[in-house]
Amino acid sequence: MEEPLKKLQSGSKHLTKERERSLKDYEVECEECDETTYVASYQKPIFCPICGRRVEAEEVENAE
Ligand SMILES: [Zn+2]
Repeated sequence: MEEPLKKLQSGSKHLTKERERSLKDYEVECEECDETTYVASYQKPIFCPICGRRVEAEEVENAE
């Protein structure tokens, strides 16, 4: 049981590095289906999650 756990820990360390590109929230306003959706993504969404049409996404500032 110890071996797989070690592997898992070193694996998650690598994953943490990748996450420095932080997950951001984007607001996607679609003219086609007239819906505003919120998407959490590392990259700016370019398609509406509902109808798949190309959209302009706005980054949402996290107010904490
Ligand atoms: Zn749409």
